[in-house]
Amino acid sequence: MIEWVLFDADDTLFDFRRAAKLAFFQTFEALKLESEPAWFEVYEIYNKAVWTEYENHKIDGQTLRSKRFAGLFSHIKQPDLHDPAAFNDLYLKLLVENSHLLDGALDLLNALHGKVKMAVITNGLHDVQRPRIKKQNVGHFFAEIVVSEEIGCAKPQVEYFEYTFRNLGNPPKDRVLVVGDNLSSDIQGAKNYGLKSCWYNPSGKENPGPHFPEYEIRGLDEVREIVLG
Ligand SMILES: [Mg+2]
Repeated sequence: MIEWVLFDADDTLFDFRRAAKLAFFQTFEALKLESEPAWFEVYEIYNKAVWTEYENHKIDGQTLRSKRFAGLFSHIKQPDLHDPAAFNDLYLKLLVENSHLLDGALDLLNALHGKVKMAVITNGLHDVQRPRIKKQNVGHFFAEIVVSEEIGCAKPQVEYFEYTFRNLGNPPKDRVLVVGDNLSSDIQGAKNYGLKSCWYNPSGKENPGPHFPEYEIRGLDEVREIVLG
């Protein structure tokens, strides 16, 4: 029996990639800077790299904020295009404005509401995660929202899950399900801490291992069946 469902936020409940792409180009426009369509994919490479460094405790959130855009600007051979930290600040504001729930997320939260307890566990930035949850009016579904930047550790670190469990009142681990799209942070993190996990894999990617979940789903509606039976 599942008592708690711990949801990842980006690309599990929220359509992060769409919002990120819109916010990326809107930031260039707002600053009256030229941009090229290919730059978003370049940015994604730098962004992914800094998030990996952040998740491995090599850099902090402030460094992450500026380093990803500094990397992009150097890559496009315009290192002085704009102050990377200021560019990032505007980007984050636009990211919140462009945020939307994924298809089926609201239906799922409504279906589980009152039947199990729910929390958000996210490797995110303070100035994105909370405003976005507020903007989408879904805060009341969650008993806890654990934002990595606020607590100084991130999924898949055991410390992140220890902190979360203390805040949930230490429920039995076998009654907790983690739902997320990321094999290394969500699924590995759940495994390391002894929790069941459900991999949200809407595009049907191959799982290269070594982190295998108990459940794998294509649509968020499938979580309901797993949790409520
Ligand atoms: Mg995610």
